[in-house]
Amino acid sequence: MCRELGLISVGQINIDGTKIRANAANRRTRTREEYQKWLTSIDEKIRQILSEAEATDSKEDQVFKDKRGDELPRQIQDQQKLKDKIQQVMEKFKDEKEKINLTDPDARFMKDGRYRIDTNYNCQAVLSKEQFILASEVLTEPSDRKALSVMVEATDQNLGQPILEVAADAGYSSYDNYEYLDKNHKIGYIPDQNLRKGNAQDKPYHQDHFTYDSQKDIFLCPEGKLLNLYKIRREERSYRKFQVKIYKAKDCPACPKKSLCSRQKYRTITIEDRKALLLEMRKRLETEIGRNKYLQRLWTTEPFFGHLKYNLGYRHFFLRSLKKVKGEFRLMCIGYNLKKMHKMLAFS
Ligand code: SF4
Repeated sequence: MCRELGLISVGQINIDGTKIRANAANRRTRTREEYQKWLTSIDEKIRQILSEAEATDSKEDQVFKDKRGDELPRQIQDQQKLKDKIQQVMEKFKDEKEKINLTDPDARFMKDGRYRIDTNYNCQAVLSKEQFILASEVLTEPSDRKALSVMVEATDQNLGQPILEVAADAGYSSYDNYEYLDKNHKIGYIPDQNLRKGNAQDKPYHQDHFTYDSQKDIFLCPEGKLLNLYKIRREERSYRKFQVKIYKAKDCPACPKKSLCSRQKYRTITIEDRKALLLEMRKRLETEIGRNKYLQRLWTTEPFFGHLKYNLGYRHFFLRSLKKVKGEFRLMCIGYNLKKMHKMLAFS
């Protein structure tokens, strides 16, 4: 609708996420072992209630003959219900380290932006340049890395056409995501976690100062000399098969900087095949256009999450379970878009 009204021009999308508290108490998020201990304590409690009931019964029998109160059996019923609920939740565990909440078993312990760990959902949104939400999603996976492909695909589907450019913060950077964007012919503006750490700053001949040219598949060293592709080696790890590319310079023996650069006769650079994608991404982000495209993320996504959390005070869900929480978050996003549309149409 926004596109038909000329309110959005979709070329670049901006992805970001925030953690929103589930409608569940942290103390009810436990491991399988902790639930097992809880079950044992409930059994103990039931035994205690039964023995108290027996004692009360015999006292009451003496006083009231055949009459008896029903408070204690109700207590047992409550404990039995709690036991059933715990047993249901225990069937969901996949490993010993996993923690599941009893009240909302879909929510997970996640660290939020302030490094606080709570029982949360990971809420993702994709915004256009005009600050309209193009796609939203709620995930139970704390890491944003897994969200990138989900959000790009949701946006493509909502718009009925593939988007071209994607900006997101370093939380979304991974070789998998760089590869995903490359294979799907999308241009990313996603810095990697080490981009600004500057571990290579005091080493002028560090590998990071060699410039990669993806068109020619070559490197240029800091002295402007060429490193050609020399060898490709195939390697295999338990998680994936990959290839390692080795690039070799040929002008090193005559180079005045050789003692600072390499102990080998010819300097080589060894990179995993996907590192080329990372280098390309860094190169793109170093250009003025790349920097501006990346900055677009700041003034599109941050106002939305800021409005949601600080203006509306929407810091926790009202509903429980992933399905309902997804609906709740989508309604918040629709409301935001409608308000924005109203404002833009009123002033146009
Ligand atoms: S030693 Fe070789 S790779 Fe290093 S700066 Fe000199 S020419 Fe370039």
